[in-house]
Amino acid sequence: MSLTDLTIAQAGAKLAAKEISAVELTAAHNAAVAALNPRLNAFITTTPEFALEQAKTADATIAAGKAGPLTGIPLAIKDLFCTEGVRTTAASKILEPFIPPYESTVTAQLKAAGAVFLGKANLDEFAMGSSNITSGYGPVENPWKRNGSDAKLVPGGSSGGSAAAVAARMALGATGTDTGGSIRQPASFTGLAGIKPTYGRCSRFGIIAFASSLDQAGPMARTVEDCAIMLGAMSGFDAKDSTSAERLVPDFRAAAARSVKGLRIGIPTEYRADGMSTEIAALWEKGVAWLREQGAEIVDISLPHTKYGLPVYYIVAPAEASSNLARYDGVRFGKRVDGEDLIDMYERTRAAGFGAEVKRRIMIGTYVLSHGYYDAYYLRAQKIRALMLRDFTLAFDKVDAILTPTAPSAAFGLGEKMADPVTMYLNDVFTVPASLAGVPAMSVPAGLSAEGLPLGLQIIGKHFDEETVLAVSAAIERAANFTAKPSLMAGGAN
Ligand code: GLN
Repeated sequence: MSLTDLTIAQAGAKLAAKEISAVELTAAHNAAVAALNPRLNAFITTTPEFALEQAKTADATIAAGKAGPLTGIPLAIKDLFCTEGVRTTAASKILEPFIPPYESTVTAQLKAAGAVFLGKANLDEFAMGSSNITSGYGPVENPWKRNGSDAKLVPGGSSGGSAAAVAARMALGATGTDTGGSIRQPASFTGLAGIKPTYGRCSRFGIIAFASSLDQAGPMARTVEDCAIMLGAMSGFDAKDSTSAERLVPDFRAAAARSVKGLRIGIPTEYRADGMSTEIAALWEKGVAWLREQGAEIVDISLPHTKYGLPVYYIVAPAEASSNLARYDGVRFGKRVDGEDLIDMYERTRAAGFGAEVKRRIMIGTYVLSHGYYDAYYLRAQKIRALMLRDFTLAFDKVDAILTPTAPSAAFGLGEKMADPVTMYLNDVFTVPASLAGVPAMSVPAGLSAEGLPLGLQIIGKHFDEETVLAVSAAIERAANFTAKPSLMAGGAN
């Protein structure tokens, strides 16, 4: 088996047994990045020499008998995590020259665990999008193709570069962030596993802010176990993030191996959205059957405020974004376009630095927060958000986890769904409720569409119960036995 085809767990075992070295493993991934990135555009910045240095250190750690499960494992880092001394752009032109003087807590923890960083992965600008099309550094191409078609597809978003890098075997795993679905939807579009943990589980320190009450970091990888390994290193309390939770980090890897026998799994009626494709509905039914076969009990539940999820999200997220993005003014860091006076400089800098989707969100956000409209939009959205959280709390009195589809469709074509922004926003219909409630949710590959594209199922859990989410996801993974590879790798139509 080629080195780039291993899982994190397999690579870790081979490194520990000294069958392979971290330098070899990293060199193989550097080569894959050099070969494929010019086409897929999954990385904005690559750091091959830095990766090799980290790999040498990892080999020394292994030789000293001090290795952990991530020592020497090559990862892609979403370019929203600040990395000390390595350019961090958030895929925005406004941060084109920005080299952070500090490291995000999550990436610092991954470095301390011995992981190797191959480069900074492409994303939608400031993580705003569902297709990676809004990046200021060009779109990412999905390594998957429809059967018999050469049309380029999107990898989903906003963590589209992370997804494409792992699916195309350029990295063994990647960090993502998820505000309304940005880990789960791209995982579904590229045949990967990805988990958005409970809000507060991973520190937000050093992650460029989009919507602070929703943003969470999480892993994307080719198996549930690999996600569990990464999540263990990424989690934990951080005094530098005031919303970080003081919780012990459980053994996620052990949890992923638990049985689902006796667990109660909720099926929410309201997710049977009007016009759900028969293919997605059938996949969901399969998921139900798989869990039942493994001894879980299936329970019908109701999450009555689900239909407000998208409108609430698309008020709250832009409101917080408009406030967070006020700091990009050309004064302290990032791009500056000089003007006649200070105000003119601000305006020219922001006009040149932000793309169309980011500008739209800033305008929507400032509008819903403005005097006279605050009560009608923002305050009302916050009230409904509280009701959505209550829906989950009541449901979790009856069930241990909830099963739904991850996204309403498979990956779509580059350039599709661009006619109006609302069409794009509809992608997030199944992912935003868990984000608004702050509960953990994972996407796991469950099958292929009629056109040969991956489709994911979503498992939603109770606050801080990622362990059950991982166990249920692993049960789906076992039953689905998803072994298909992107057409680009399998030598199919491309
Ligand atoms: N697609 C959603 C949006 O555009 C979610 C993005 C995210 O989770 N970062 O806001």
